[in-house]
Amino acid sequence: MRLAVVLIFLPATLAAVGVTWRSWRRRRESTALAAMALVAAGIAQWSAAELIAMAFPRPAVVVANGFALFVGVTGVVAGFHCLSRAVVDRGWRLSRRTAALLMIEPVIVFGLLATNRWHEAFIARWEPMPPGSLTPLREVYGPLFWAHTAYSDLILAAGLVRLVRAAWRSAGATRTMQMLILIGTIPPLAANMLAISDLLPQIDLTVLGFAVTVVVGYRAVSGQWLVERVPIANQRILDAVSDAVVAIDRDGRIINGNPAARRLARLLAPDLDGELSGQSIRLVLGRLAPGEQLTSEQEHTITNARGAGVDLHVRISPVHGHGARLLGWTIVARDITDLNRQARALAEANRQLNDQVRTIEALRADLAEQAIRDPLTGLHNRRHLMERLDHSAAELTAAGLPLSLAIIDVDHFKQVNDDFGHGVGDAVLVQLAARLSGAAGGSDLLARHGGEEFVLVMPGADADLAWQRLEDVRRAVSDLPLDADGRSLSVTVSVGVATTYGEHTRAELFHCADVALYRAKTGGRNRVAAADADCAPGEVAA
Ligand code: GH3
Ligand code: MG
Ligand code: MG
Repeated sequence: MRLAVVLIFLPATLAAVGVTWRSWRRRRESTALAAMALVAAGIAQWSAAELIAMAFPRPAVVVANGFALFVGVTGVVAGFHCLSRAVVDRGWRLSRRTAALLMIEPVIVFGLLATNRWHEAFIARWEPMPPGSLTPLREVYGPLFWAHTAYSDLILAAGLVRLVRAAWRSAGATRTMQMLILIGTIPPLAANMLAISDLLPQIDLTVLGFAVTVVVGYRAVSGQWLVERVPIANQRILDAVSDAVVAIDRDGRIINGNPAARRLARLLAPDLDGELSGQSIRLVLGRLAPGEQLTSEQEHTITNARGAGVDLHVRISPVHGHGARLLGWTIVARDITDLNRQARALAEANRQLNDQVRTIEALRADLAEQAIRDPLTGLHNRRHLMERLDHSAAELTAAGLPLSLAIIDVDHFKQVNDDFGHGVGDAVLVQLAARLSGAAGGSDLLARHGGEEFVLVMPGADADLAWQRLEDVRRAVSDLPLDADGRSLSVTVSVGVATTYGEHTRAELFHCADVALYRAKTGGRNRVAAADADCAPGEVAA
């Protein structure tokens, strides 16, 4: 039991010491915190005296602490008076006179306690307690103790009444703070009732209740410190923001403006010299000033005194009083001139970047096209042909359709070079390529295979159809002379063609067409020869 009591009083004492320390360190922030330090110190001392008496229950210790605890009690009473005044009135300061008045009672009490043994008017005597009690002695109070108690209760009650009245009248965070302090006084009152009622005859828990009071009170009072600073903080914020903030009345007269508003006014209306109060908002914002329109958010360009355009983002909000009565407006204006300039520069840079991306894209496409084209004739090159051929062949085989491949070789082309020069030879190849393109069908693949050889792939064409179409091609070349470098030249071609239904590899198909071409050459040139039936698959390694 004793241990349990000690374990309750110890944390209460430590809590009170903690609040004393914290409040004292912050005593300059508010008078309420300084007063809180005094109350908490009183509780700490009172609680410590009870704790020591409980822990060492020898008569001498109990008696000594029974006297000593009144130091704390008188501190609590004086401190609570100051606390209730400071919390109710932020401007309250402890005057010398009040301090002197508050000192009177403690001085008298200390005097009475010091001289008690001669008059025994404060503590009449110490009575022994029955064995097994928590404490060996109990004090029997004299009449002056009761006078002291009456005084203390009066001061405490006055403080409570002061707090209740203030909480009744105030609002918001201040009221919450005052209510919290009031709620914090419930535990000691309840504990005191318990002690007086003799329900717990061995022990007085009042000081424990007070420990709760100071912890709750400290939280509330340190919160008040913040609340008091809200208007100051708001002002600082207004001073610091770069947006111009202006409040105007119903007639459009400026009531208040922050430093940014004064700077903006200097820019837009130099005549005002930044002096805004009482001026008409129209002098600064012109037609942007609020009129019929109550709420608006717009961007505008105003031409300032120097003739330069100032871009503004303006937000106008009405301010209503009770009963929706219009009191005026707040205007928040942001100078977005630089922002707009940057936005335009960014848009221009973006446009240029897009142009460059398009150019690069075109170059890339061009490059990709060049990679699959023969530079002289513009026809597809051999590599591209091979890719397309494999693809096409696979599809046709799957569909069970034929594919014919022809090699077209210019006859005696070496002679053209020898007779007219390489340049004319090139021109002949270009013209010939154009003519072959004209003769090829839409689904055909035409490519320059190399040198003066071309390849024409005819998907879906069987041997007969292929032969017929190649005859047309051959005639298209031989019937009309070519215009090469201003020179009219007659050229013929020999063609070898092979047809497959998928049973040949690509190499076999080329080989068969090549064999047929050889026959066309040896047969007299300017003709089309089809691969023999004996050009069977499996003849050429893939
Ligand atoms: P044939 O009827 O047997 O095919 O005789 P040919 O002279 O056409 O055949 P040959 O293979 O002996 O000669 C081909 C010539 O084509 C040799 C080469 O100089 C020429 N040639 C190859 N590529 C080009 C080119 O890009 N431009 C020019 N001007 N000539 C080329
Ligand atoms: Mg050749
Ligand atoms: Mg040739």
